[in-house]
Amino acid sequence: MSNQSFAARTFRDDAVVLRTHKLGEADRIIILLSRHHGQLRAVARGVRRTSSKFGARLEPFMVADLQLLKGRSLDIVTQAVARASYGGAIAANYDKYVVAAAMTETAERLTDVDGETSNAHYQLLVGALAALSRGAHAPELILDSYLLRAVSIAGWAPSFTECARCGEPGPHGAFNAALGGAVCHDCRPPGSPAPAPETMALLGALLSGNWPGADASAPLHRREAAGLVAGYVQWHLERTVRSLKLVERV
Ligand SMILES: [Zn+2]
Repeated sequence: MSNQSFAARTFRDDAVVLRTHKLGEADRIIILLSRHHGQLRAVARGVRRTSSKFGARLEPFMVADLQLLKGRSLDIVTQAVARASYGGAIAANYDKYVVAAAMTETAERLTDVDGETSNAHYQLLVGALAALSRGAHAPELILDSYLLRAVSIAGWAPSFTECARCGEPGPHGAFNAALGGAVCHDCRPPGSPAPAPETMALLGALLSGNWPGADASAPLHRREAAGLVAGYVQWHLERTVRSLKLVERV
């Protein structure tokens, strides 16, 4: 291979590590969400040797400026410069870890099908990991806000005020995942949950990023909101997000 063709196959991007798995004796496959190139699967050579600083930059939840070599099926990571290391603070705390795992798993599912919105997904995920790492808000609130915004980027923005079906101004007393959120008395299908008004307000605050409002919420309403968000996301993914079940929602 000539230097010229090597250069032509090399590209650079910021990326967050979603997941890794072992490959052979010393290598790993790294699943990445990049800012401009969507979701990437790349090989990182030699990173399972304990002395590998390169490997430490390619752990889950790390953000790095990467140089990659385009491959036929998998790309190859040739350089990694750490931009932010959220991994340590997150891995040291079980509640943070399960939330980060649920967010990266959701990001992987959502960006697998849609590469066009990768910059928006990248920024949302990096912002959520940063907030989680520094303990800016309760982990479960960061998760639910992330999930509502991530599914919105994917085109499934819920409504928590006007009726998701007919547009009747709210607030409304019922919620229906299949119809897209709050539903009015006339549109409400039988069996739709009727959350507390405070829960609907919390959901709206989490979606819009009204953190003072979300932080002031009561545990009872956080639990109810979490159940509705999980149901909404799962309905729209049309399959179970495994990690969501790990997050305690007693
Ligand atoms: Zn309606």
